[in-house]
Amino acid sequence: MTFNLNSEEHSAAVLEVQKKAGYHFQNQALLMEALTHPSYAAELPQQPAKQNQRLEFFGDAVLQIILSKYLFVSLPEAQEGTLTRMRSYLANEAATADYARRLGLDKVLLLGKGECTTGGRERTSIQGDAFEAFLGAVTLDGGYAAARALALSLIPPLDVVAEKLVLEENPKGALQEFCQSHRLPRLNYELLSKTGPVHSPTFTVRVTVGNRELSRAIGPNHKQAEREAAILAYNALEAELAKSLASATVVLDFDGVLCDSVRECCASAWKAARTIWPDLFEAEMPDEETYTRFRQVRPFLETGFEGILLLKMVKEDQPILEYEQNLKEHFQRILYQWELTEEQLRKLYGDTRDRWIQEDFDGWLAMHSFYPGVISALFRARVNGCRVYISTTKQERFVQALLKRAGVDFPPENIHGLDRKEKKEVLLLRLCQDQERTLYFVEDRLKTLQRVAETPGLEEVSLHFATWGYITRHDQENVRQLSRIHPVSLTEFTRRFGNDVAHSK
Ligand SMILES: [Mg+2]
Repeated sequence: MTFNLNSEEHSAAVLEVQKKAGYHFQNQALLMEALTHPSYAAELPQQPAKQNQRLEFFGDAVLQIILSKYLFVSLPEAQEGTLTRMRSYLANEAATADYARRLGLDKVLLLGKGECTTGGRERTSIQGDAFEAFLGAVTLDGGYAAARALALSLIPPLDVVAEKLVLEENPKGALQEFCQSHRLPRLNYELLSKTGPVHSPTFTVRVTVGNRELSRAIGPNHKQAEREAAILAYNALEAELAKSLASATVVLDFDGVLCDSVRECCASAWKAARTIWPDLFEAEMPDEETYTRFRQVRPFLETGFEGILLLKMVKEDQPILEYEQNLKEHFQRILYQWELTEEQLRKLYGDTRDRWIQEDFDGWLAMHSFYPGVISALFRARVNGCRVYISTTKQERFVQALLKRAGVDFPPENIHGLDRKEKKEVLLLRLCQDQERTLYFVEDRLKTLQRVAETPGLEEVSLHFATWGYITRHDQENVRQLSRIHPVSLTEFTRRFGNDVAHSK
């Protein structure tokens, strides 16, 4: 049993909850109402005292509408029955209690003495209600958008939910798929014994992967025992994965891993190009077709200013994809033809972008977007205890502003940007010194990964190649030859990172 915190500890813990939720209350009284269980209110001298049941009633409805809309929009192919099952999975008592614990609401919930002594704080019904009340309070205090941001940051990725539902329906199939997608060794079911009288036998089955036993279960028939063993094995593997992430350190590249900055890069290059070739770049901003075509060739860019040359080639309909191997030569030719130098272009590109940022910072930020699922994975990973660093060639203040705009309060000391003039290997070497933690590095630039792979002292770092980033066909083929570097898809990344990134070593 755990009693209520004293008032000083309580205030600190309540602040911590708001930090984890990424939301700070204007109206603290409303927050306190959400944290007051009826059993506590009943013990207060002033009666009737405020308690969280009305907020819970409201928050329950808010959660339903947030989830309904999210599922409706995210799964355009799904039938109503599937949507309903997914929604109830995401809003049931186990789920809401989990959200509550992850925010630390269970610690700050004010309970009556009786509830404290009978383990009320650990009861999922009380925890789940507290989450709903908290969500209701956030909605009243900060509006629907704040509530939606909070709820969506807590729910697991939808493919994980779908997987769980499959687990309930077909546990053996689900386990098989899990083992395949996590590259585990062969899965095996073994009937250990059949005991008891003929009319009511007991079957014992065990599940192994490779040589390792994952679970044992009994059942009234072979099939039932296997089913039970599969569920236990699945849950054991999941728990293992979550645990390994909690004790890991993950270093993420920013552009091409978390953030898609193709539009910004294209628009900055466009603005710069207009000053050199006003006839070719008449419009103020690129049109959609240009963005799309620029996106295809973006992986060839090594530095920003080359975008100006690349964009000129795009506008002139040159077959850039065929030039992949000798693109530099084409760049040189344009420079020569127009009597330009690399230095001039670098300065022009930098100045153009600086002016844009100065004149319209919000507009500039809005040209970036985060890849689907990465923000909630980032949030979950950190809540689970994973240490996350961002290592990027962007300036730190931009990364900070972009994350903030997406609702993430990321510790600035964990962002290592252009400002530090430090190679990614240097950060990795420093983090490597903590031998307790497994170190992961996720990057979309193959050259950088190769450089890291060759750096003495970084032999133990698990290297992951982000295939959703700015990569060329060439990279995609090359990475297959490199056994140290594991290609990872966006779905795998958000799923593993949200639960775990740590298993595909
Ligand atoms: Mg990158």
